[in-house]
Amino acid sequence: MSDPFVTGQMTPGYAPGRALRIPDPDEGQPLTDDMRAAIDAGHVAQVVVFCDGCGVEHRADYTGADKHTRFAAARQHLADNERWDTSGTLDLCPACKAVPA
Ligand SMILES: [Zn+2]
Repeated sequence: MSDPFVTGQMTPGYAPGRALRIPDPDEGQPLTDDMRAAIDAGHVAQVVVFCDGCGVEHRADYTGADKHTRFAAARQHLADNERWDTSGTLDLCPACKAVPA
């Protein structure tokens, strides 16, 4: 993953190309300095990923300089932490990926 340095869009310690998931308040995790910098820079937005099998939605806030970066971060998060299959052309929730094609 590239980590571009964009002059003029930087706050110290934060690279806009870096994609991070912002924890939900009820998770009780503190925000990191990178996350605070991204929020200050306006590089946080809610991303919604739909399951292509059943249509269930997963939404969370992600950092990233543009929507493509944020969407990629969301799919990576779902694959790594929520047991989704986002490796192919379809995004499948854990229930749907278990169904044989
Ligand atoms: Zn599904």
